Amino acid sequence: MQLLKKRILEDGKCFEGGILKVDSFINHQMDPQLMKSIGVEFVRRFASTNVNKIMTIEASGIAPAIMTGYLLNLPVVFAKKKSPKTIQNALSTTVHSFTKDRDYEVVISSDFLTPNDKILFVDDFLAYGNAALGVIDLIQQSGAQLVGMGFIIEKAFQQGRAKLEEKGAHVESLAIIEDLSHCQIKIR
Ligand code: 5GP
Repeated sequence: MQLLKKRILEDGKCFEGGILKVDSFINHQMDPQLMKSIGVEFVRRFASTNVNKIMTIEASGIAPAIMTGYLLNLPVVFAKKKSPKTIQNALSTTVHSFTKDRDYEVVISSDFLTPNDKILFVDDFLAYGNAALGVIDLIQQSGAQLVGMGFIIEKAFQQGRAKLEEKGAHVESLAIIEDLSHCQIKIR
């Protein structure tokens, strides 16, 4: 997606340890026009699939997920990183965060992830694939079907895609970063 790649090269910042900071347009301040174009592109990439719900993880996945859900006229559900006391019928899994270097619990209510659901999962980044593997686990626990996984940015050098494809996932990324070493952003 040319518009996104251009924006990453213009406004993205590279940090030690293979981290790309895009907090002026995705992760902190957000650009709704760009986010809409991202939604349009996800719709195009998954046009041949049969989806009835969009799923993401809070917080940064919510913006692209809601755009995609709005365009497809489908409900959007997000997995939570903290289990609310009031949650009912919770499914949970443990995810290791590479950016924060710790494990955390991800929960979702089986009221909103059911055996009738055909899920398109949408998130901001694919890095090592741990968050997405946690989502696959939740989907399997619920009996729902995973139709596809769409990421705004994939860091190919952290190899997450192979883990997801091993599980049979159809993965689409709108910008693929080949390398961030020496703080240079190399996009495929
Ligand atoms: P993974 O589980 O694939 O290793 O990482 C996925 C999650 O970690 C993403 O949802 C994102 O929140 C965060 N993340 C991973 N790499 C980066 C990065 O380079 N920059 C930012 N801003 N977040 C990242």
